[in-house]
Amino acid sequence: MKKVIEYIVYFLIGEQNKSLAEYIYYGIDKEKKHSVLIEKSDFFNKDIYMTLKSVPQLPLKEINGIPILFGEPRITKENGQIIIHADLIASTFFLISRYEECVRRDVRDEHGRFIGKESLPYKAGFLNRPIVEEYGALLRQCLRDAGLDVKEPQPGFSHIYLTHDVDQIWTWNNYYRALRTVIKRIIKNERNKLQPVKAVYDFKKYDPAYTFPEIVKIEDNFKKTCEVCSSVYFIMGCTKKTAYDLNYILNKERTEQLLSFLKLSGAEIGVHTSYQAAQQMNEFSDEIKRIENIGKVKITKSRNHFLASREPEDFRYYIDAGIKDDYTMGYADVAGFRIGTCRPVRWIDPITRELTSLTLHPMTTMECTLDTPKYMGISDENKAFTTVTDLVDRIYRYYGEITLLWHNDSLNRNRKDYRYSLYIKTLRYISNLLLCKTEK
Ligand SMILES: [Zn+2]
Repeated sequence: MKKVIEYIVYFLIGEQNKSLAEYIYYGIDKEKKHSVLIEKSDFFNKDIYMTLKSVPQLPLKEINGIPILFGEPRITKENGQIIIHADLIASTFFLISRYEECVRRDVRDEHGRFIGKESLPYKAGFLNRPIVEEYGALLRQCLRDAGLDVKEPQPGFSHIYLTHDVDQIWTWNNYYRALRTVIKRIIKNERNKLQPVKAVYDFKKYDPAYTFPEIVKIEDNFKKTCEVCSSVYFIMGCTKKTAYDLNYILNKERTEQLLSFLKLSGAEIGVHTSYQAAQQMNEFSDEIKRIENIGKVKITKSRNHFLASREPEDFRYYIDAGIKDDYTMGYADVAGFRIGTCRPVRWIDPITRELTSLTLHPMTTMECTLDTPKYMGISDENKAFTTVTDLVDRIYRYYGEITLLWHNDSLNRNRKDYRYSLYIKTLRYISNLLLCKTEK
Protein backbone atom coordinates (compact mmCIF):
# COMPACT_ATOMS: atom_id res chain seq x y z
CA MET A 1 0.00 0.00 0.00
CA LYS A 2 2.94 2.32 0.70
CA LYS A 3 4.01 2.14 -2.95
CA VAL A 4 0.44 2.87 -4.08
CA ILE A 5 0.18 5.97 -1.90
CA GLU A 6 3.59 7.18 -3.06
CA TYR A 7 2.52 6.68 -6.66
CA ILE A 8 -0.74 8.58 -6.19
CA VAL A 9 1.09 11.50 -4.57
CA TYR A 10 3.56 11.62 -7.50
CA PHE A 11 0.72 11.32 -9.96
CA LEU A 12 -1.19 14.20 -8.38
CA ILE A 13 1.68 16.66 -8.11
CA GLY A 14 3.12 15.65 -11.49
CA GLU A 15 6.51 14.44 -12.64
CA GLN A 16 7.85 18.01 -12.67
CA ASN A 17 7.28 18.32 -8.91
CA LYS A 18 8.41 14.85 -7.88
CA SER A 19 11.01 16.18 -5.45
CA LEU A 20 8.26 17.91 -3.45
CA ALA A 21 6.60 14.62 -2.46
CA GLU A 22 8.68 14.54 0.72
CA TYR A 23 6.75 17.58 2.00
CA ILE A 24 3.44 15.72 1.83
CA TYR A 25 2.17 13.25 4.38
CA TYR A 26 -0.92 11.06 4.17
CA GLY A 27 -2.43 9.97 7.48
CA ILE A 28 -1.90 11.52 10.87
CA ASP A 29 1.34 13.44 11.12
CA LYS A 30 1.93 13.49 14.86
CA GLU A 31 5.22 15.32 14.72
CA LYS A 32 3.80 17.92 12.34
CA LYS A 33 7.00 18.00 10.35
CA HIS A 34 5.48 17.86 6.87
CA SER A 35 4.40 21.07 5.17
CA VAL A 36 1.18 19.53 3.85
CA LEU A 37 -0.91 16.84 5.49
CA ILE A 38 -3.66 14.99 3.65
CA GLU A 39 -5.98 13.66 6.30
CA LYS A 40 -6.87 10.02 5.88
CA SER A 41 -10.56 9.09 5.84
CA ASP A 42 -11.88 5.67 6.85
CA PHE A 43 -12.09 4.48 3.20
CA PHE A 44 -9.23 1.97 3.52
CA ASN A 45 -10.42 0.58 6.89
CA LYS A 46 -11.03 -3.12 6.65
CA ASP A 47 -14.68 -3.01 7.72
CA ILE A 48 -15.38 -0.33 5.06
CA TYR A 49 -13.14 -1.18 2.11
CA MET A 50 -14.88 -3.20 -0.63
CA THR A 51 -18.25 -2.84 1.04
CA LEU A 52 -21.14 -0.66 -0.10
CA LYS A 53 -20.41 1.59 2.88
CA SER A 54 -17.37 2.83 0.95
CA VAL A 55 -19.42 4.21 -1.96
CA PRO A 56 -19.88 7.98 -1.54
CA GLN A 57 -23.41 9.26 -1.17
CA LEU A 58 -24.77 12.06 -3.33
CA PRO A 59 -24.67 15.00 -3.27
CA LEU A 60 -20.89 15.11 -2.92
CA LYS A 61 -19.16 17.72 -0.82
CA GLU A 62 -17.13 20.27 -2.73
CA ILE A 63 -13.91 22.07 -2.05
CA ASN A 64 -13.31 25.17 -4.20
CA GLY A 65 -15.94 23.79 -6.59
CA ILE A 66 -14.21 20.40 -6.83
CA PRO A 67 -16.30 17.40 -5.75
CA ILE A 68 -14.54 15.14 -3.27
CA LEU A 69 -15.42 11.54 -2.60
CA PHE A 70 -14.05 11.16 0.92
CA GLY A 71 -13.17 13.36 3.88
CA GLU A 72 -14.28 16.89 4.63
CA PRO A 73 -14.17 19.89 2.28
CA ARG A 74 -11.81 22.00 4.37
CA ILE A 75 -8.24 23.17 4.28
CA THR A 76 -6.85 24.51 7.55
CA LYS A 77 -3.49 25.71 8.80
CA GLU A 78 -2.22 24.59 12.17
CA ASN A 79 1.21 25.44 13.55
CA GLY A 80 2.46 26.26 10.10
CA GLN A 81 1.18 22.98 8.62
CA ILE A 82 -1.45 22.95 5.90
CA ILE A 83 -4.05 20.27 6.51
CA ILE A 84 -6.25 19.06 3.66
CA HIS A 85 -9.22 17.40 5.32
CA ALA A 86 -10.47 16.11 1.95
CA ASP A 87 -9.05 12.64 1.32
CA LEU A 88 -7.56 13.28 -2.10
CA ILE A 89 -5.64 10.00 -2.02
CA ALA A 90 -8.68 7.77 -1.47
CA SER A 91 -10.70 9.85 -3.94
CA THR A 92 -8.02 9.37 -6.61
CA PHE A 93 -7.61 5.69 -5.78
CA PHE A 94 -11.37 5.15 -6.16
CA LEU A 95 -11.33 6.63 -9.67
CA ILE A 96 -8.10 5.39 -11.25
CA SER A 97 -8.35 1.80 -10.02
CA ARG A 98 -11.98 1.20 -11.19
CA TYR A 99 -12.83 0.47 -7.55
CA GLU A 100 -16.49 1.32 -8.08
CA GLU A 101 -16.82 -1.46 -10.67
CA CYS A 102 -15.61 -4.01 -8.10
CA VAL A 103 -17.91 -2.93 -5.36
CA ARG A 104 -20.96 -2.66 -7.64
CA ARG A 105 -20.83 -5.95 -9.54
CA ASP A 106 -24.60 -5.82 -10.00
CA VAL A 107 -24.34 -2.80 -12.31
CA ARG A 108 -23.65 -4.28 -15.76
CA ASP A 109 -25.36 -4.02 -19.15
CA GLU A 110 -26.30 -6.91 -21.45
CA HIS A 111 -22.66 -7.17 -22.57
CA GLY A 112 -21.36 -7.37 -19.00
CA ARG A 113 -20.02 -3.79 -19.11
CA PHE A 114 -20.22 -1.35 -16.25
CA ILE A 115 -22.77 1.29 -17.21
CA GLY A 116 -21.35 4.80 -17.51
CA LYS A 117 -24.65 6.47 -16.71
CA GLU A 118 -24.79 4.49 -13.45
CA SER A 119 -21.29 5.56 -12.43
CA LEU A 120 -20.64 7.96 -9.60
CA PRO A 121 -18.80 10.49 -11.84
CA TYR A 122 -21.79 10.63 -14.19
CA LYS A 123 -24.42 10.84 -11.45
CA ALA A 124 -22.44 13.49 -9.61
CA GLY A 125 -22.12 15.43 -12.86
CA PHE A 126 -18.34 15.43 -13.30
CA LEU A 127 -17.70 12.67 -15.84
CA ASN A 128 -16.68 15.35 -18.34
CA ARG A 129 -14.02 16.72 -15.96
CA PRO A 130 -10.66 15.06 -15.35
CA ILE A 131 -11.28 15.52 -11.64
CA VAL A 132 -8.00 13.86 -10.61
CA GLU A 133 -6.19 16.70 -12.42
CA GLU A 134 -8.24 19.14 -10.36
CA TYR A 135 -7.16 17.33 -7.18
CA GLY A 136 -3.58 17.65 -8.40
CA ALA A 137 -3.98 21.41 -8.94
CA LEU A 138 -5.45 21.76 -5.44
CA LEU A 139 -2.56 19.86 -3.88
CA ARG A 140 -0.02 21.92 -5.82
CA GLN A 141 -1.70 25.10 -4.58
CA CYS A 142 -1.34 23.87 -0.98
CA LEU A 143 2.37 23.20 -1.55
CA ARG A 144 2.69 26.70 -2.97
CA ASP A 145 0.88 28.16 0.05
CA ALA A 146 3.43 26.34 2.17
CA GLY A 147 6.11 28.42 0.44
CA LEU A 148 7.41 25.79 -1.97
CA ASP A 149 8.32 26.34 -5.59
CA VAL A 150 5.74 24.38 -7.58
CA LYS A 151 5.48 24.01 -11.33
CA GLU A 152 2.12 23.79 -13.10
CA PRO A 153 1.77 21.59 -16.20
CA GLN A 154 2.13 23.60 -19.42
CA PRO A 155 -1.02 23.46 -21.55
CA GLY A 156 -0.74 21.04 -24.44
CA PHE A 157 -1.00 17.37 -25.24
CA SER A 158 1.54 14.85 -24.02
CA HIS A 159 0.39 12.50 -26.79
CA ILE A 160 -2.38 12.02 -29.31
CA TYR A 161 -3.51 8.52 -30.20
CA LEU A 162 -5.66 8.18 -33.29
CA THR A 163 -7.00 4.70 -32.86
CA HIS A 164 -9.15 2.41 -34.96
CA ASP A 165 -10.83 -0.80 -33.90
CA VAL A 166 -10.83 -3.07 -36.91
CA ASP A 167 -14.01 -5.07 -36.33
CA GLN A 168 -14.05 -5.91 -40.04
CA ILE A 169 -11.74 -5.45 -43.01
CA TRP A 170 -14.38 -6.14 -45.66
CA THR A 171 -18.18 -6.42 -45.53
CA TRP A 172 -19.33 -9.22 -47.84
CA ASN A 173 -17.66 -12.62 -47.78
CA ASN A 174 -19.08 -13.94 -51.05
CA TYR A 175 -21.41 -13.20 -53.97
CA TYR A 176 -24.34 -14.93 -52.28
CA ARG A 177 -24.25 -12.52 -49.32
CA ALA A 178 -23.58 -9.59 -51.63
CA LEU A 179 -26.64 -10.45 -53.75
CA ARG A 180 -28.85 -10.56 -50.68
CA THR A 181 -27.82 -7.00 -49.89
CA VAL A 182 -28.36 -5.95 -53.52
CA ILE A 183 -31.93 -7.29 -53.41
CA LYS A 184 -32.58 -5.52 -50.11
CA ARG A 185 -31.32 -2.27 -51.60
CA ILE A 186 -33.47 -2.66 -54.69
CA ILE A 187 -36.59 -3.27 -52.56
CA LYS A 188 -35.85 -0.26 -50.37
CA ASN A 189 -34.66 1.77 -53.36
CA GLU A 190 -31.38 2.63 -51.63
CA ARG A 191 -28.23 4.11 -53.14
CA ASN A 192 -25.26 2.10 -54.45
CA LYS A 193 -27.34 -0.94 -55.31
CA LEU A 194 -24.54 -2.86 -57.02
CA GLN A 195 -21.78 -1.91 -54.60
CA PRO A 196 -21.87 -5.26 -52.67
CA VAL A 197 -21.18 -7.27 -55.81
CA LYS A 198 -18.43 -4.93 -56.92
CA ALA A 199 -16.96 -5.12 -53.39
CA VAL A 200 -16.71 -8.90 -53.55
CA TYR A 201 -14.94 -8.56 -56.90
CA ASP A 202 -12.48 -5.95 -55.57
CA PHE A 203 -12.88 -5.19 -51.86
CA LYS A 204 -9.99 -2.75 -51.68
CA LYS A 205 -11.59 -0.57 -54.29
CA TYR A 206 -15.30 -0.86 -53.52
CA ASP A 207 -15.86 -2.10 -49.97
CA PRO A 208 -17.13 0.66 -47.63
CA ALA A 209 -15.23 -0.88 -44.70
CA TYR A 210 -11.88 -0.82 -46.49
CA THR A 211 -11.02 2.80 -45.74
CA PHE A 212 -7.43 2.29 -44.60
CA PRO A 213 -5.68 4.26 -47.38
CA GLU A 214 -8.06 7.18 -46.70
CA ILE A 215 -7.35 7.03 -42.93
CA VAL A 216 -3.60 7.00 -43.52
CA LYS A 217 -3.93 10.02 -45.81
CA ILE A 218 -6.00 12.01 -43.28
CA GLU A 219 -3.68 11.19 -40.41
CA ASP A 220 -0.45 11.81 -42.34
CA ASN A 221 -1.77 15.26 -43.04
CA PHE A 222 -2.65 15.80 -39.37
CA LYS A 223 0.78 14.66 -38.24
CA LYS A 224 2.36 17.57 -40.10
CA THR A 225 1.09 19.83 -37.30
CA CYS A 226 1.54 17.39 -34.46
CA GLU A 227 4.76 15.67 -33.49
CA VAL A 228 3.37 13.61 -30.63
CA CYS A 229 0.82 11.60 -32.57
CA SER A 230 0.49 7.88 -33.24
CA SER A 231 -2.01 5.89 -35.24
CA VAL A 232 -2.92 2.60 -33.64
CA TYR A 233 -5.03 -0.15 -35.22
CA PHE A 234 -6.56 -2.82 -32.98
CA ILE A 235 -6.89 -6.13 -34.82
CA MET A 236 -9.11 -9.06 -33.89
CA GLY A 237 -7.42 -12.43 -33.45
CA CYS A 238 -10.38 -14.73 -32.83
CA THR A 239 -11.02 -17.72 -35.09
CA LYS A 240 -14.65 -18.32 -34.12
CA LYS A 241 -17.35 -16.22 -35.71
CA THR A 242 -20.17 -15.28 -33.34
CA ALA A 243 -22.98 -12.71 -33.28
CA TYR A 244 -20.41 -10.21 -31.98
CA ASP A 245 -17.04 -11.26 -33.38
CA LEU A 246 -15.79 -11.65 -36.93
CA ASN A 247 -13.00 -14.16 -37.54
CA TYR A 248 -11.41 -12.31 -40.45
CA ILE A 249 -7.96 -13.35 -39.29
CA LEU A 250 -8.67 -16.75 -40.88
CA ASN A 251 -8.21 -15.01 -44.22
CA LYS A 252 -4.50 -14.89 -43.66
CA GLU A 253 -3.66 -13.26 -46.96
CA ARG A 254 -5.97 -10.27 -46.53
CA THR A 255 -5.01 -9.77 -42.88
CA GLU A 256 -1.32 -10.05 -43.73
CA GLN A 257 -1.66 -7.51 -46.54
CA LEU A 258 -3.52 -5.08 -44.31
CA LEU A 259 -1.00 -5.37 -41.50
CA SER A 260 1.95 -4.80 -43.80
CA PHE A 261 0.20 -1.80 -45.35
CA LEU A 262 -0.47 -0.31 -41.90
CA LYS A 263 3.04 -1.01 -40.66
CA LEU A 264 4.49 0.62 -43.74
CA SER A 265 2.41 3.73 -42.99
CA GLY A 266 4.12 3.94 -39.58
CA ALA A 267 1.08 2.81 -37.60
CA GLU A 268 1.20 0.61 -34.55
CA ILE A 269 -0.75 -2.63 -34.15
CA GLY A 270 -2.60 -3.74 -31.04
CA VAL A 271 -4.98 -6.55 -30.15
CA HIS A 272 -8.72 -5.97 -30.23
CA THR A 273 -9.76 -8.45 -27.55
CA SER A 274 -12.74 -10.37 -28.92
CA TYR A 275 -16.10 -10.50 -27.18
CA GLN A 276 -15.55 -14.23 -26.52
CA ALA A 277 -12.05 -13.79 -25.11
CA ALA A 278 -13.29 -11.10 -22.76
CA GLN A 279 -15.61 -13.75 -21.32
CA GLN A 280 -13.04 -16.54 -21.35
CA MET A 281 -9.78 -14.83 -20.76
CA ASN A 282 -7.68 -17.95 -21.38
CA GLU A 283 -8.30 -17.43 -25.12
CA PHE A 284 -6.73 -14.00 -25.01
CA SER A 285 -3.07 -14.96 -25.39
CA ASP A 286 -3.90 -17.16 -28.42
CA GLU A 287 -5.50 -14.15 -30.12
CA ILE A 288 -2.35 -12.14 -29.50
CA LYS A 289 -0.11 -14.90 -30.88
CA ARG A 290 -2.14 -15.16 -34.09
CA ILE A 291 -1.79 -11.44 -34.79
CA GLU A 292 1.90 -11.51 -33.92
CA ASN A 293 2.51 -14.42 -36.31
CA ILE A 294 0.62 -12.94 -39.22
CA GLY A 295 1.79 -9.37 -38.77
CA LYS A 296 5.32 -10.15 -37.56
CA VAL A 297 4.83 -7.63 -34.78
CA LYS A 298 5.08 -7.71 -31.02
CA ILE A 299 1.73 -6.89 -29.44
CA THR A 300 1.80 -4.88 -26.22
CA LYS A 301 -1.27 -2.67 -26.72
CA SER A 302 -4.90 -3.68 -26.31
CA ARG A 303 -8.47 -2.56 -26.49
CA ASN A 304 -11.59 -4.62 -25.90
CA HIS A 305 -14.13 -5.12 -28.66
CA PHE A 306 -17.41 -3.48 -27.50
CA LEU A 307 -15.22 -1.83 -24.84
CA ALA A 308 -16.20 -4.95 -22.93
CA SER A 309 -13.53 -4.75 -20.27
CA ARG A 310 -15.86 -6.42 -17.82
CA GLU A 311 -14.18 -6.90 -14.45
CA PRO A 312 -11.24 -4.76 -13.37
CA GLU A 313 -9.23 -7.80 -12.26
CA ASP A 314 -9.34 -9.15 -15.85
CA PHE A 315 -6.41 -6.80 -16.41
CA ARG A 316 -4.33 -9.43 -14.61
CA TYR A 317 -4.67 -11.65 -17.71
CA TYR A 318 -3.52 -8.75 -19.83
CA ILE A 319 -0.40 -8.29 -17.75
CA ASP A 320 0.33 -12.03 -17.91
CA ALA A 321 -0.13 -11.95 -21.71
CA GLY A 322 2.51 -9.23 -22.06
CA ILE A 323 0.19 -6.23 -22.50
CA LYS A 324 1.76 -2.99 -21.35
CA ASP A 325 -0.80 -0.41 -22.49
CA ASP A 326 -4.57 -0.61 -22.58
CA TYR A 327 -6.81 1.89 -24.40
CA THR A 328 -10.26 0.65 -23.38
CA MET A 329 -10.95 3.10 -20.57
CA GLY A 330 -14.01 4.98 -21.72
CA TYR A 331 -17.65 4.10 -21.27
CA ALA A 332 -19.57 2.89 -24.30
CA ASP A 333 -22.75 4.73 -23.31
CA VAL A 334 -21.36 8.14 -22.45
CA ALA A 335 -18.18 10.07 -23.28
CA GLY A 336 -15.96 11.37 -20.51
CA PHE A 337 -13.18 10.50 -18.10
CA ARG A 338 -14.02 6.99 -16.94
CA ILE A 339 -11.01 6.76 -14.65
CA GLY A 340 -11.10 10.39 -13.56
CA THR A 341 -7.91 11.42 -15.33
CA CYS A 342 -6.80 12.48 -18.80
CA ARG A 343 -3.23 11.30 -18.28
CA PRO A 344 -1.85 7.78 -18.71
CA VAL A 345 -1.93 6.11 -15.33
CA ARG A 346 -0.67 2.82 -13.98
CA TRP A 347 -3.44 0.50 -12.99
CA ILE A 348 -3.74 -0.25 -9.29
CA ASP A 349 -5.44 -3.57 -8.64
CA PRO A 350 -8.26 -2.63 -6.24
CA ILE A 351 -8.48 -6.19 -4.92
CA THR A 352 -4.83 -6.61 -3.96
CA ARG A 353 -4.07 -2.85 -3.74
CA GLU A 354 -0.92 -3.39 -5.77
CA LEU A 355 0.60 -1.02 -8.26
CA THR A 356 0.85 -2.97 -11.52
CA SER A 357 2.97 -2.58 -14.65
CA LEU A 358 -0.07 -1.95 -16.89
CA THR A 359 -0.63 1.60 -18.11
CA LEU A 360 -4.19 2.72 -18.78
CA HIS A 361 -4.68 5.33 -21.49
CA PRO A 362 -7.97 7.16 -20.94
CA MET A 363 -10.16 7.08 -24.04
CA THR A 364 -11.51 10.50 -24.92
CA THR A 365 -14.41 9.32 -27.03
CA MET A 366 -15.63 6.64 -29.38
CA GLU A 367 -17.57 7.94 -32.38
CA CYS A 368 -20.59 5.66 -31.92
CA THR A 369 -20.99 6.68 -28.27
CA LEU A 370 -22.00 10.09 -29.56
CA ASP A 371 -24.60 9.21 -32.19
CA THR A 372 -26.04 5.82 -31.20
CA PRO A 373 -29.60 6.44 -29.90
CA LYS A 374 -29.22 4.13 -26.88
CA TYR A 375 -25.93 5.79 -25.89
CA MET A 376 -25.74 9.59 -26.09
CA GLY A 377 -28.00 9.81 -29.13
CA ILE A 378 -26.64 13.16 -30.34
CA SER A 379 -28.13 13.67 -33.78
CA ASP A 380 -26.85 17.21 -34.23
CA GLU A 381 -23.27 17.31 -35.51
CA ASN A 382 -22.52 20.67 -33.88
CA LYS A 383 -23.57 19.34 -30.51
CA ALA A 384 -21.37 16.25 -30.99
CA PHE A 385 -18.48 18.52 -31.98
CA THR A 386 -18.91 20.64 -28.83
CA THR A 387 -19.06 17.49 -26.69
CA VAL A 388 -15.73 16.29 -28.10
CA THR A 389 -13.96 19.66 -28.12
CA ASP A 390 -15.03 20.36 -24.54
CA LEU A 391 -13.17 17.19 -23.51
CA VAL A 392 -10.22 18.12 -25.75
CA ASP A 393 -9.97 21.57 -24.12
CA ARG A 394 -9.87 20.07 -20.66
CA ILE A 395 -7.14 17.62 -21.73
CA TYR A 396 -5.15 20.49 -23.25
CA ARG A 397 -5.33 22.45 -20.01
CA TYR A 398 -3.66 19.66 -18.02
CA TYR A 399 -1.16 18.44 -20.62
CA GLY A 400 -3.09 15.20 -20.94
CA GLU A 401 -3.44 12.61 -23.65
CA ILE A 402 -6.07 12.40 -26.36
CA THR A 403 -7.25 9.00 -27.50
CA LEU A 404 -9.85 9.08 -30.24
CA LEU A 405 -11.60 5.93 -31.39
CA TRP A 406 -13.11 5.96 -34.86
CA HIS A 407 -13.85 2.59 -36.50
CA ASN A 408 -12.52 2.12 -40.03
CA ASP A 409 -16.01 1.73 -41.50
CA SER A 410 -17.00 5.08 -39.94
CA LEU A 411 -14.30 6.84 -41.90
CA ASN A 412 -15.99 6.45 -45.23
CA ARG A 413 -16.79 9.81 -46.77
CA ASN A 414 -19.98 8.47 -48.39
CA ARG A 415 -21.67 7.76 -45.08
CA LYS A 416 -24.95 9.48 -44.45
CA ASP A 417 -24.20 10.30 -40.80
CA TYR A 418 -21.69 12.81 -39.41
CA ARG A 419 -18.98 10.38 -38.28
CA TYR A 420 -16.55 11.12 -41.11
CA SER A 421 -16.94 14.88 -41.04
CA LEU A 422 -16.82 15.02 -37.24
CA TYR A 423 -13.47 13.25 -37.32
CA ILE A 424 -12.07 15.71 -39.84
CA LYS A 425 -13.39 18.67 -37.84
CA THR A 426 -12.05 17.31 -34.55
CA LEU A 427 -8.56 16.83 -36.01
CA ARG A 428 -8.70 20.34 -37.47
CA TYR A 429 -9.67 21.71 -34.05
CA ILE A 430 -6.73 19.94 -32.38
CA SER A 431 -4.36 21.15 -35.13
CA ASN A 432 -5.52 24.73 -34.56
CA LEU A 433 -4.93 24.45 -30.82
CA LEU A 434 -1.41 23.24 -31.50
CA LEU A 435 -0.76 25.91 -34.13
CA CYS A 436 -1.93 28.68 -31.77
CA LYS A 437 0.41 27.31 -29.13
CA THR A 438 3.41 27.44 -31.51
CA GLU A 439 2.58 31.01 -32.53
CA LYS A 440 2.38 32.23 -28.91
ZN1 LIG B 1 -14.69 -3.60 -31.81
